[in-house]
Formats: sequence, structure tokens, C-alpha cells
Amino acid sequence: MTRQVLIVGAGIGGLSAALAASRAGWLPRLYEQAPHLSEVGAGIQLGPNTTRILHSWGLDRALAQVAAFPQRLRVRSAHDGGELGTLALGDTLAQRYGAPYACVHRADMQALLLEAARMEGVVPVLASRVSAVVAFGDAVALRVKGGAEVEGDALIGADGLWSRVRELIWRDGPPPATGHVAYRSVASQEGLPPALRTQDVNVWLGPRMHLVAYPVRGGDALNVVVLVEGRSSGPADDWDQHAVTAELQRAMGESCAPLRDLVNAMPGWRLWSLHDRAPMRSADAMAQGCVALLGDAAHPMRPYFAQGAGMAIEDARELGRALSSVGGPIDVPLALRRYALNRWQRVARVQGLSRRNGRIFHAMGPVRWARDLAMRVMGERLLDQPWLYGE
Ligand SMILES: Cc1cc2nc3c(=O)[nH]c(=O)nc-3n(C[C@H](O)[C@H](O)[C@H](O)COP(=O)(O)OP(=O)(O)OC[C@H]3O[C@@H](n4cnc5c(N)ncnc54)[C@H](O)[C@@H]3O)c2cc1C
Repeated sequence: MTRQVLIVGAGIGGLSAALAASRAGWLPRLYEQAPHLSEVGAGIQLGPNTTRILHSWGLDRALAQVAAFPQRLRVRSAHDGGELGTLALGDTLAQRYGAPYACVHRADMQALLLEAARMEGVVPVLASRVSAVVAFGDAVALRVKGGAEVEGDALIGADGLWSRVRELIWRDGPPPATGHVAYRSVASQEGLPPALRTQDVNVWLGPRMHLVAYPVRGGDALNVVVLVEGRSSGPADDWDQHAVTAELQRAMGESCAPLRDLVNAMPGWRLWSLHDRAPMRSADAMAQGCVALLGDAAHPMRPYFAQGAGMAIEDARELGRALSSVGGPIDVPLALRRYALNRWQRVARVQGLSRRNGRIFHAMGPVRWARDLAMRVMGERLLDQPWLYGE
């Protein structure tokens, strides 16, 4: 009989897990609390480590239809606009790592994965909030709020930052606030003054803040995120809070005119409160018996390495490998243990570097001076990440 894996959450991680599990010969049953799948209006960057997996799943054409493929990553001073360092992306990076650097709108990414899952016969069960999880011996069960209990051979918590599965099984409390918030806006490039349009990834570094702008939707739209040290007064778990533009402008401090122009030109700013967890310390943080965590549920991180979704997709690929090994002497707990053992150290490194990048990006005084000098002298060497992109 086909083994069943219960997956909680149909975000980028859960959909990827469903796809990988199906290809591993398992029957994924995917439960999503939202009544319909609609990712918030924002972009994500995908390094070659991630796009290589999407290509291996046969999604290269689908990705090419919705993504933008920037030619350069440019790091600049928010204070005077001066260029600090660049990294060639485009064909240069694609040839180096066998897959491109892509920027994609989250909704497009989710739709792409959803369609791929549907082609495998996997359809998420929507409006199904998982309220309880029971692990017993060699089986697991979950209960959907107001609905039935469902049993399976393995259970994957891909339910994001505020994971219910983590709360029920790991019981290690909610993820703490980082004291940073993200303002975000997406606009049609055509609607922006020509000087503000760009097909590059641009990162502007300022004291206690940085701004990232890159194209999405095949280059037709511009995604801008401003990451600022400060707190929001809205609910911690609301990804889509109303933002007061005047507060954002204040947080921009002494930024140069082109950057202020960009912030003023972008419409409808929304706000996100950032939370993370300390880097994982062992495989136990990702798997216990027949239950495993994946993506933000396992390892929420600051977005300063642009790898949270990338790590979720890498987790899914590894989960697929683990599930396909089940049989004979390898039972589900052993396979999930292997999944966790093969993932936790790499992800913990990315979690740690994401925190460190935040400190470097937002530096002031002598640290800022040293950062700018290092970036000017060794830009490409600092910005390229062979250990990450090459694996
Ligand atoms: C400002 C910002 C910028 C970022 N930029 C990048 C980037 O450039 N590149 C990158 O790779 N990553 C980036 N990230 C990180 C990335 O967004 C996340 O790591 C990724 O979306 C995590 O996906 P996930 O599927 O694990 O979780 P989520 O996307 O949170 O999905 C979890 C799903 O589970 C559902 N769910 C929750 N609880 C339940 C329940 N009890 N029952 C049923 N369903 C449930 C939710 O509704 C949701 O659909 C960024 C993050 C932020 C905040």
C-alpha cells in the first residue's frame, strides 16, 4: 500500500515537500488553513542552489515565464549612493553554478509549485486549520479544526513561523521578535520615473537600515523592501500590516536623494514584523520519531541572506530523498532522522550568517567604515557564496 505523508501548510515549503514526496512514491496529503492560496504581494530572490532544484524538478520553463533574471547585484551606500561592490549574476553566475539567480513574486512562485503539485495529483485541502497532532508508535494523526482526524505514516510541519506542529511536539515557545521590521511595496516599473526603474538587484546599506530593490514578474514589476531596526505596534503574526509612510521616511534618516525618491514613488507600503530563532544546535530540532519540521517551522531566519524559501526548498528535496529510502530496515523515524542529519548544519550556518549580515548591513561608525573598505576592495569575493550556491 502507498505510504501517506501528512503535510501541514501549503506555503512554498509545504508545496515543495508535497511535490518531492509524490516523486518519491508517497501519497502526500496537504492541509492548509487559508481558504484560498494567495501569497502576500512581495518578491523573493532565489540563488542558484534553489533554482537548480527547481530545474531538477522540471520547473525551469515555468520559472522562466514568471521570474526576472538580473544581470548584477549592486551594493551601495544609502548615505551618498556610491557603489561599494558588485557581483555579476546573469550568465556568469548561471555558468559557474549550473543554474541562474532569479527574482520572483511570491504569488507566482506559489502558483508555479501548486500547478506542479496538481500535475502529480496533489490538491491541498484548504480552509483546514490543523489543531492537534498525535504521534503514536509507527503512525501519526492530525486533527483539522472542526473536522475529522486523519492518519498517516509520517507528518511534516511546514506551517511556517508560528508552527502549530512545533508548538505541539517541540513545545519550545514562540519565535522571539528580532526588533526589526520590513516595509515592502511592489510597483509596475512602467509607472515609475525612468531613473528609478531597474533590472538589477540593488542593496543600499545605511545606519540601522537597508533597502533592497529588484525586478519580479519577468522584469515588469519592481519589488522594494526596507529593513529597519524598530518595532511595529500591529499583531506579531500579521504579515500584512498597514505601514505609515512618514515613519518609513523617518527611518531612512540621512539617505541620499535617489533612495528617498524611490521610497516616495513606491505605492501602498505594507509592514512585516520580523521574528527568528537561534541557529539549530542538533538534528533533534528538525525530526522526532515520525514527525519532522520543514522551512520556517524548523528554522525561521532573518531575511538578510535571502535564503529562507531557498532552505525550505532544499529541505523538501532532502525530505524526498529520505522518504524514498523507507523500506526494509529503514523505517520512517530513521529516514526522517537522516533528513534532519543531512540538513541541520547547513541551515544553522545560513541562520547564523543571516543574523551576522544584519549587523554588518546596518553598521555604524568604525565597523561601517571597515565594511565599506572591505566591500570596495573585495566586493565580488565577499558577495559570491560558493559553499552555498555550489551545493
Ligand atoms: C521581508 C522578507 C524577505 C524575504 N526574502 C526572501 C528571499 O529573498 N529569498 C528567500 O529564499 N526567502 C526570503 N524570505 C523568507 C521566506 O519568505 C520564508 O522563509 C518562506 O516563505 C517560508 O516558507 P514556508 O512554506 O516554510 O512558510 P510559510 O510561507 O509561512 O507557509 C506556511 C503555511 O502554513 C499555513 N499554516 C500555518 N499554520 C497552519 C495550521 N495550523 N494548519 C494548516 N495550515 C497552517 C500558513 O497559512 C501558510 O500557508 C523573506 C522573508 C521576509 C520576511
